[in-house]
Amino acid sequence: MLNCIVLIISKILSSIIGIFKKNSGNVVGKIAIKLRPNIIKYFKIDCPVIAVTATNGKTTTNNLLSYIVKKNGKVAVSNTEGNNMETGIVTKLIKNSTITGKIKADFITLEVDESYVPKVFKKIRLDTLIVLDFFRDQLDRNGEEESLILKINEFLKDYKGNLILNNDDPNVARLGKANPENKNVYYFSVDKYKYATKEEKEVGEGKFCPFCKTRLEYEYYQYSHIGKFKCPKCGYGENDIYLKVNSVDVKEGTFEVENNDTSEDRKREGTTYKTLANSIYAIYNYAAALAFSKLYNLDAKEALATFKLDNGRCEEIEVKGSKTLINLAKNPTGANVSLRILNEDSDEKDLLFVLNDNIADGFDVSWIWDINFNIQNVNRIITSGKRAYDIAIRIKTSGFDKEKIETYLDLDEAVKALYKTKGKKYVIANYTALQPTRKVIFDYKKM
Ligand SMILES: [Zn+2]
Repeated sequence: MLNCIVLIISKILSSIIGIFKKNSGNVVGKIAIKLRPNIIKYFKIDCPVIAVTATNGKTTTNNLLSYIVKKNGKVAVSNTEGNNMETGIVTKLIKNSTITGKIKADFITLEVDESYVPKVFKKIRLDTLIVLDFFRDQLDRNGEEESLILKINEFLKDYKGNLILNNDDPNVARLGKANPENKNVYYFSVDKYKYATKEEKEVGEGKFCPFCKTRLEYEYYQYSHIGKFKCPKCGYGENDIYLKVNSVDVKEGTFEVENNDTSEDRKREGTTYKTLANSIYAIYNYAAALAFSKLYNLDAKEALATFKLDNGRCEEIEVKGSKTLINLAKNPTGANVSLRILNEDSDEKDLLFVLNDNIADGFDVSWIWDINFNIQNVNRIITSGKRAYDIAIRIKTSGFDKEKIETYLDLDEAVKALYKTKGKKYVIANYTALQPTRKVIFDYKKM
């Protein structure tokens, strides 16, 4: 009864907030949890619940899952705005439930913060967990990522649901062994792409076998520590692959999926996919989404062809004749991936890097020293944000000509400076810098 009352109050609150603000974010969930700490248990869910977790790529992948479900004419309830802690998830469920707590959907897909996976799914049923990658991220909030992996590993020890894992990340694939009784483990993998390297180019984490501590051997690296690895001692890394992506062309956004499926419908679908993706990093997110589609027998072809990366996730826009690519980077790997896309583009360009150190970013910005600033065909770099000088010094130390670095604490001035020349522009911004930067660029575009 009390749960029901709290739910009604929360729903009213949610509608009131909804009138003023499109996205009620976390507020309603926060209040509901204060009133009933286990309110999340009260929801009546009878459709599959899918969760996506990772250091990078959660939002893109979850948005893609939701898009695939909708393209198949079904209803998805998803926290596509990215509010990925318990408060955000509860807010989403309140908004989409009846007053008795029933959720009307064919699928619930949730992006979940790594540290909240055990917390949330001890309380509600989880059918499929997708894990994309683990990188060093916000050390002052999360601690070393090893402690996060161990937390999830512990949770998985008695989990028997589906587990979709990136077999090319040694930090992720290990989770498939957390519960030897679980037969529902599905690995996905992406075959070597054009810019894969023999040596690791960017800072990575997965150097040693988590089972026998032997140094892992890599056939190639796709980016950071993602690639084809194997433990020479215990063989860790060799798994049956459920979904394999081949022939990746990041320029064209195309790839093929190895079709070992025997169903006639699947064979007819064909195996070549055309997407709007422009990076190896996005292709991994797409591979995870395809594994999900295969598991639930959904058609993903049209969804993948039309899914647009936006909201500052490898977002491409045209500003007064200058092609501009905006990408979020909240940790070294995020930044390295953006710089990788920049290096794979042989055109001349300018770069804007915006760095803040607000609470959501973590106060410690020392991670910028793990960025690989070995960049090509960049004429000028403009830096901005609260830590504009820190990032400028970092870039200067990497050997980039200091005469070509311009620093503006004021974001409007920085954007003006970026567009004072013609040509391609790349924009990298960290967490709290992203939306303000996008806003200034979109305003400038309209001017
Ligand atoms: Zn080993």
